[in-house]
Amino acid sequence: MSPSSSSPSSSSRSATPVVVWFRDDLRVSDHPALSAAAASGRPVVAVWVRDEESPGVRPPGAASRWWLAGALRSLAHSLGTRGVTLLLRHGPAARVIPDLVRESSAAEVVWNRRYAPAEAVVDAALAADLASQGIAVGTFQAGLLAEPDQVRTKAGGPFGVFTPFLRALLARPAPRPPLPAPGAMPGVAGLRSEALDDWALEPRAPDWAAGFPAVWTRGEAAAQEKLAAFLDRALAGYASDRDRPDRIGTSRLSPHLRFGEISPFQVFHAALVAREAGRATAQDVDKFIAELVWREFSYHLLAHHPRLATENYQPRFDAFPWRSDPSALHAWQRGKTGYPIVDAGMRELWTTGYMHNRVRMVVASFLVKHLLIDWREGERWFWDTLVDADPANNPASWQWVAGSGADAAPYFRIFNPVLQGEKFDPDGAYVKRWVPELRGVPAKFVHAPFAATPELRTAGVTLGTDYPVPLVDHKIARERALAALAVTKRP
Ligand code: FAD
Repeated sequence: MSPSSSSPSSSSRSATPVVVWFRDDLRVSDHPALSAAAASGRPVVAVWVRDEESPGVRPPGAASRWWLAGALRSLAHSLGTRGVTLLLRHGPAARVIPDLVRESSAAEVVWNRRYAPAEAVVDAALAADLASQGIAVGTFQAGLLAEPDQVRTKAGGPFGVFTPFLRALLARPAPRPPLPAPGAMPGVAGLRSEALDDWALEPRAPDWAAGFPAVWTRGEAAAQEKLAAFLDRALAGYASDRDRPDRIGTSRLSPHLRFGEISPFQVFHAALVAREAGRATAQDVDKFIAELVWREFSYHLLAHHPRLATENYQPRFDAFPWRSDPSALHAWQRGKTGYPIVDAGMRELWTTGYMHNRVRMVVASFLVKHLLIDWREGERWFWDTLVDADPANNPASWQWVAGSGADAAPYFRIFNPVLQGEKFDPDGAYVKRWVPELRGVPAKFVHAPFAATPELRTAGVTLGTDYPVPLVDHKIARERALAALAVTKRP
């Protein structure tokens, strides 16, 4: 499990507690830090720190806070059944963790490593501080199959292109098998905890997350059930169905992975076992593993480009002539662009905190290329509204679509939202689910209602009253985007 420890104390049995600091790993199985603490035989102090004060640490968006509340509740329950209380504290980790070490008279602190640069800086400084006070620190690999520095080009540098990164990652020794959850552990009584409800992570009035529980169950057990259901029902056929928003063709594990309710090692090995058991073809499993590795690639990029959410990966995009258009941005955010596949995606996002990957690409392309609105506006909206909003995947994907990212879509690829809808939602089922105004429109016209006046009349839909007139004409917007994008062409 690639531990890194500042002292070999983990094997010594004693009554001095060990602090397990949970972060983006809200589970008890395949949790190397917790397993090491359990194996040490020491009393265990478990803590989650709400740190929104350390420099550069990005506070979670609203939908992520909703997820976090459920994930913490579920983790507290799992730890409780093992005899350990999950403590909640807020403040900068650099203060909170040493305070807890003093209060509990702990001799050791363990955690699973995290890879967003600001967080990695916090962790390194804290590890040095604790070590200087004679407190042992043990850190472990748990959140990525390969840590950012473990995958290097032949020249020793970071990768900027996905396919060679994938090859290099898969050429490494096979990812370790997942660890079982530890059993009962001695806990420590009497330590102060803040109350989860006092943090008000979940909205109350208005409860804009009211639609989330119908779609999501948070927590480790639900993540394992989601994985099992995916292996049963959707891994076979994944390579083709993953692009169909009208089908359940993907795993929907992203928020569980984001909060570490399941580990990539668990998902990776489960997919391999399914392949060996003949439950899916090599093509389906390879494609699924490649998507998991996109997540690894995003972290690799973020580790080497810490300002991925705010700065163009390719500086030639710095001269891009973005438009400021608050009313178009608002129409996009609310799913009122007049392009049904875009509007369906944005409404799915608002109602459920999730959007299908194909549709994410379409709506992002629409914002950046049809509306010429800065990708950072879209990234921020997704950050606030996605339950899987991820510090690496979100900016890396936005920059990929915008063309400013690593190994990005070429600047001249401008999705036609009508053709995308017709290709990936051929019966219009996805659009009709999220844009009920168009339910009566025949499938043939549902992706371009503006081009079907008589059919709209028959369906009782008046453009501009029941459903918006398109914000922009595709052909004109495409030409405008190509002209703007020309400034980014290499000389
Ligand atoms: P599956 O197809 O079942 O894939 C399994 C896992 O692999 C996912 O859970 C995810 O962890 C990873 N994965 C899949 N596709 C990608 C991808 N293209 N890039 C990186 N990792 C991937 N994903 C996030 O997890 N968080 C984000 O904030 C996020 N923002 C995005 C923004 C835009 C503009 C775009 C185009 C994509 C974004 N993605 C993001 C990637 C992708 O859309 C989601 O990971 C995927 O839709 C999650 O659904 P799933 O779990 O069913 O995926």
